[in-house]
Amino acid sequence: MSISLSSDFASAVPEMAVAWEAAPVAEPALLVLNEPLAKELGLDPAWLRADGLPFLVGNEAPGVAQAYAGHQFGGYSPRLGDGRALLLGELRHADGRLRDLHLKGSGRTPFARGGDGLAAVGPMLREYILSEAMHALGVPTTRSLAVVSTGAVVQREEPLAGAVLARVAGSHLRVGSFQYARNTGDHDLLRRLADHAVARHHPGSTYLEMFVQVVAAQASLVARWMLVGFIHGVMNTDNMTISGETIDYGPCAFMEAYDPTTVYSSIDHRGRYAYGNQPIVASWNLARLAEALLPLFAADEDQAVALAMEALGTFEGHFERAWMDGMQAKLGVSADVQLVQDLLALLHANHVDFTSFFHRLAAAARGSAEPARSLFLDLAGIDAWLSRWRALGPDADAMERTNPVYVPRNHLVEEALAAGASGDLSPLSRLLDVVTSPYVERPGLEHYATPAPQDFTATYQTFCGT
Ligand code: AMP
Ligand code: MG
Repeated sequence: MSISLSSDFASAVPEMAVAWEAAPVAEPALLVLNEPLAKELGLDPAWLRADGLPFLVGNEAPGVAQAYAGHQFGGYSPRLGDGRALLLGELRHADGRLRDLHLKGSGRTPFARGGDGLAAVGPMLREYILSEAMHALGVPTTRSLAVVSTGAVVQREEPLAGAVLARVAGSHLRVGSFQYARNTGDHDLLRRLADHAVARHHPGSTYLEMFVQVVAAQASLVARWMLVGFIHGVMNTDNMTISGETIDYGPCAFMEAYDPTTVYSSIDHRGRYAYGNQPIVASWNLARLAEALLPLFAADEDQAVALAMEALGTFEGHFERAWMDGMQAKLGVSADVQLVQDLLALLHANHVDFTSFFHRLAAAARGSAEPARSLFLDLAGIDAWLSRWRALGPDADAMERTNPVYVPRNHLVEEALAAGASGDLSPLSRLLDVVTSPYVERPGLEHYATPAPQDFTATYQTFCGT
């Protein structure tokens, strides 16, 4: 099978696309393949499983390493770029739109700095599980096509097996891509990059209209994260897309007990990217995007700044609306802000598992309140809240369509990864099966709907860039 990939990005901004070959993989072995996604992309799963392995690790044709900059934890790096990743090119999806086919863990590139360019099996399987769970939860995200082990050893704290992730995205245009272009001082480059982004994501829009749409898409995205309890963990500007898709599943995790200060990332000492800070950070990142795009908004700088400020000002309204719409769907009623805030205060004070609560609340809408009540110590508090909520006439069917039974719980993800790294892929495939049908409760799967043991959660940390 010969695959024809386009190279729109590389043609539009060759200065930001370094032609590069993936490291040769002597012994590729398929660990997991996303057959439905392969078919949507016109790729034959049977071929991918057999003769297509060299294609999946980038050994069939060269790709490009993309240049980008980024604010990491608030500090600006003018040159990051794909240090261990390659864009193979774009493919036409069944929906008619282009998708990037991108590899992670494919060897050092000119952007690698001190890194080895490699990725270990565990973190690549982690991205696969989390991104496919997010997709099933209806959250815009990059997708995972396959994880292929390379047979090479990756040296971390201990020697680990290497892998390449093939991922698919609306595009890999990041806030940091625009920061990079702007920072070169080459106005024509910035304009070509923006023209490419407009053509790809918002055909016919002006630059300002595109920015307004990115603001709306990011506000909606972060609201959706919060509504499923997702913590991205490393919302640097190089990890934020123009497409509004979640990208770069590093130290991300799902919150269990509701607490806005929850952080799992081992490097986020100050809680910059804590659950409850995510809207503020998204808005901060969008301000960095606006700065990069300023010369395209208006020739006069004061006028450009005024337009950017006005557009940025729409973030909060978009976020609040998306969050309240989502909360009303989760509660099955037209709740007001006070009802939602009172509930969150109760969840917080009683250390209640976020996902379990909303799932059990649907049962309460059907008349059996005990499973939800039993999550609280403050029974008087939750009873008073439940009666206010019940008076609004909750729609149990709607709640069951909205509130997942299963999310990729951290202890189960870690279990599946540990087994996968030692060659047993069955826990991974069971977990994938569960989290990719998150709304339908199935007998025998109670284990997957149960929070981690206390001692696990108390010490759980996630790691970045591994
Ligand atoms: P991240 O925080 O994972 O989004 O990565 C930040 C930057 O570090 C990007 O420029 C990556 O390409 C680069 N990077 C992360 N890990 C490696 C690695 N093992 N080798 C080379 N570059 C890496
Ligand atoms: Mg990144």
